[in-house]
Amino acid sequence: MTVLDRLKDAVGAKGFSEDPAEIAPHVEEWRGKYKGHTPLLLKPSTSGEVSAILRICHETGTPVVTQGGNTGLVGGQIPFHGEVLLSTKRLNKIGAVDTRGMTVTAGAGVTLAQVQQAADDQNLLFPLSLASEGSCTIGGNIATNAGGTHVLRYGMTRALVLGIEVVQANGSVLDLQRALMKDNSGYDLKQMFIGSEGTLGIITAATLKLFAKPDVSVTAFAAVPSPAAALKLLGLMQARTGGMLSAFELIPRIALDFVTRHIEGTRDPLAAPSPWYVLMEATGGREASLATSFETGLAGAINDGVASDAVVAGSQTQAAALWKLRESISESQKREGASIKHDIAVPVAAIPDFIARATPVVQALVPGVRPVSFGHLGDGNLHFNFNAPRSGDDPAFLAQWDEVQQAVHDIVKEFGGSISAEHGIGAMKVASLPRYKSHEELDAMRALKHAFDPKNILNPGKLIPPVLRL
Ligand code: FAD
Ligand code: ZN
Repeated sequence: MTVLDRLKDAVGAKGFSEDPAEIAPHVEEWRGKYKGHTPLLLKPSTSGEVSAILRICHETGTPVVTQGGNTGLVGGQIPFHGEVLLSTKRLNKIGAVDTRGMTVTAGAGVTLAQVQQAADDQNLLFPLSLASEGSCTIGGNIATNAGGTHVLRYGMTRALVLGIEVVQANGSVLDLQRALMKDNSGYDLKQMFIGSEGTLGIITAATLKLFAKPDVSVTAFAAVPSPAAALKLLGLMQARTGGMLSAFELIPRIALDFVTRHIEGTRDPLAAPSPWYVLMEATGGREASLATSFETGLAGAINDGVASDAVVAGSQTQAAALWKLRESISESQKREGASIKHDIAVPVAAIPDFIARATPVVQALVPGVRPVSFGHLGDGNLHFNFNAPRSGDDPAFLAQWDEVQQAVHDIVKEFGGSISAEHGIGAMKVASLPRYKSHEELDAMRALKHAFDPKNILNPGKLIPPVLRL
């Protein structure tokens, strides 16, 4: 019996597909940037089936790539070398929300939007929020330690997971499904798997932390003269609201121009143009006190010249319109032509200096390039992007990707930053990782990988750079 036949047997007729039409959307991601191939798509519906699959893969040294919603941005979910592809889509059971303990248990294939909805139905909040939430899965969110727009207040996915169930490379099931807020009974093993991008084990289910839904949400769009002023505004508003900010997003003028030019139904909410903007949100508290402290804080900032103007949303619809400006930036950048993108983090206070230092370096490499640095200023995370020069030719611009990226990432390193704040390493950045992490750190990662996956069958070639032999 071949390995593929054994794998098919392990999951039964409903649990696999060899149909090229069914497989096609799984081996390519939505941007068409990465494309792979696989002889077999496995669709287990229980952790027992995942375990049976991995036992066979481990015994036979068969590599396997795990895929959730296929929304990852660094190619981690794509089988580039004909690996077996394991989709978690049928691990899609969601338990009842525990309203007293404020938790919910979900299979790895449950979408983020389904978890948000289940919490919302009980008047609770699951605060992870990404533009891909309709398709991405909880397993994928955990495997990538996803971020999004509310990290400032609630942390990354890592902070939202109480327990997980993982199938290890050898097929054994590691039950770390505890719904405990506190647990110091040894290594916190679940954290090893969070952010491991499918290289240490296959997450089959998770117990997630829910929060009280804030009564009040105040959203404002403020014009600021510079990133330094934006940083100052962040400090002022955190102090004014008693740390109630849940989002603080930096937007450059060019991004607002792109959005209002390309995205239907959007408009500049302020009268006069400004070089930079901030979209901020505060949630919680009692209405009068939060809204008042928020508005007094903003008025004070305008008085002191930290902000030049601001609009506070007067309704949910207005707040949604302001959020749409932020959420449409990526789409509008695409409509404007080619762009080179980075997902970097530096210490929050270093953001203005980083922008000032790195922008001219890229402008020198690509004359006429259009900088579009935006993102999660409150988390020290920028989508430090560049659109091709207006008159430029896109292929020639994109040919400079590696050169531009290396120049930017070298400056990130100078600032003690990270070359991946939220999207991960996957296949995209694995080759450059040794330039930015010490031998010691990489060796520790390799030792962990070897301990959990000694035969290197789980997502080989992703995240962990091979040891260079000279
Ligand atoms: P996939 O893409 O299927 O897989 C991603 C990685 O996780 C792969 O390495 C895969 O092997 C591994 N994996 C998946 N499931 C499992 C599992 N059960 N066990 C082990 N490994 C697994 N990301 C952010 O962090 N913040 C954002 O704001 C954000 N915005 C986005 C907006 C858009 C429009 C898009 C398309 C993507 C965005 N992303 C963002 C990236 C992406 O949505 C996240 O990385 C998401 O967590 C991936 O989930 P997924 O289920 O699609 O995983
Ligand atoms: Zn982001």
